[in-house]
Amino acid sequence: MRKKLKIILLVFTAALTVFVMWQFGVFSGTDQPKVCLDAGHGGSDVGAEYNGRYEKDDNLKLTLAVGEILKDNGIKVIHTRKDDKFVELEERAAYANKKKATFFVSIHRNSAEAQVSGVEIWIENTAPVYEEKMAKNILGKIDEVGYGNSRGVKRGYQGDTSLNYLVNSATDMPSCLVEMGFITTEKDNELFDENFDEYARAIAEGIMESLK
Ligand SMILES: [Zn+2]
Repeated sequence: MRKKLKIILLVFTAALTVFVMWQFGVFSGTDQPKVCLDAGHGGSDVGAEYNGRYEKDDNLKLTLAVGEILKDNGIKVIHTRKDDKFVELEERAAYANKKKATFFVSIHRNSAEAQVSGVEIWIENTAPVYEEKMAKNILGKIDEVGYGNSRGVKRGYQGDTSLNYLVNSATDMPSCLVEMGFITTEKDNELFDENFDEYARAIAEGIMESLK
């Protein structure tokens, strides 16, 4: 009888230890960097549109390609969407927060009335210098491939620097929003299509540079 009790106690202690370790994230490797990739728009929200070309599709294609490169380099990657579905902005940020991502990168394509061109990256208006540096790492790598025109790292929100993109302001970790050229500009679409693999690699390398 005593022996049985001892075994039960032993099993209970072991289970409790495992549970506590799990609670403290011992098995999830919380100190390992985890990148949350966010393909802008999706589903009924097509994003910007140009001659039947939808921003949501370009965003998803590029985001998945970046994710593959990161994974090939041993980086943990999570996605806010991996297919053509609608996801609320709040949900995207909440997911990254819940999963304790260390870096959040949203990928979009820009639009304008005029035939403007180039890549820009948005960060929160209150982002610290190191966060700006992370965005600059990505832009720097894209510049190396060449995108005609670098529009720089910008703070806040298009047209109002006192506002922020929600995915930047609602995420707990460093974040940025990449506007990968203008979908409304012929030249930028050509660049996007012709150099697709190089851009994916550039964004992934910029992210990895930032994780160091
Ligand atoms: Zn967009």
